[in-house]
Amino acid sequence: MANRVAVIGQKKRIALIAHDRQKQNLLEWVKFNKGTLLKHELYATGTTGKILEKELGSKITIFESGPLGGDQQIGSRIAEGCIDFLIFFWDPLAPQPHDPDVKALLRIAVVWNIPIACNRASADFLISSPLMAEEYPRILPDYDGYRQRLSSK
Ligand code: PGA
Repeated sequence: MANRVAVIGQKKRIALIAHDRQKQNLLEWVKFNKGTLLKHELYATGTTGKILEKELGSKITIFESGPLGGDQQIGSRIAEGCIDFLIFFWDPLAPQPHDPDVKALLRIAVVWNIPIACNRASADFLISSPLMAEEYPRILPDYDGYRQRLSSK
């Protein structure tokens, strides 16, 4: 069966998350890209969100703090098709109490084929893409076979 397509609109629904030792890094990136980011709909985990709202001077949708379920909330929005872009500066040098949630979020972003940046250079490339200002037909892998794997037995 053919893959389906879900359009990522001109206005992206972008989730932003940074682990504690990456928050400054994300803040600097957001400062630099403020003009572009404000054209989109922004979401964030608790602490990251509060810091970014202050910097942007604009309301963003803030979920629970990451270790308290925020990563999972964002993952569920991705699965529901309500968030279609992820900037996630996770800390490669420190174990996190919610490591399984971090892994789950990254996994679900790959499952649903949304753009992900996990470091500053990737985030720079993503945000400067001409696709940021256009609609993008995101291919949704065909999971129907997977959904029906047991019902046909
Ligand atoms: P925080 O969560 O924005 O509430 O710090 C981020 C995370 O650790 O996933």
